[in-house]
Amino acid sequence: MPRKEEHIYKGMLLAVAVGGASAHDQPPTKAALEIAGSIAGGYVGARFPDVVEPANRPNHWGFAHSIAAGVGLSVVAIRNGPQLRDGFRAAGDEFFAMQSECRERFLPWFLCGIGGTLMYLTAGFILGFPAGYASHLGLDQLKCTSDIPLLNRRV
Ligand SMILES: [Zn+2]
Repeated sequence: MPRKEEHIYKGMLLAVAVGGASAHDQPPTKAALEIAGSIAGGYVGARFPDVVEPANRPNHWGFAHSIAAGVGLSVVAIRNGPQLRDGFRAAGDEFFAMQSECRERFLPWFLCGIGGTLMYLTAGFILGFPAGYASHLGLDQLKCTSDIPLLNRRV
């Protein structure tokens, strides 16, 4: 069974690849924010199945460790992820546009910068999470002696 560190490392590695491919057409600062968000999403996604279903007994794999969950999340991410990402990018751009309009007042300028940053981090997170999740299920399938269940293995 892969260790927690291996899940995190490989989940974040896959998330960097997905985030980098997704943000390749963005300006460097925004691409860096998206990739950072994707890495965070990869961390959370790589940990998620074992947090929901901790390995504290045999047959701990429930729905979160199933083929159905992995395929379902992947389909949702592929179909809706780019559209969601673009929505967060647009919201981030609005925050940054508002920020440039209020340079002489610190608090609104600062808050708009935070808002734009959070929107771009989230744009990356929503693509990194399913990448980390998929890497977790893939590693469990490859490194464990039994196959991950179609729906649920709990008894
Ligand atoms: Zn697991």
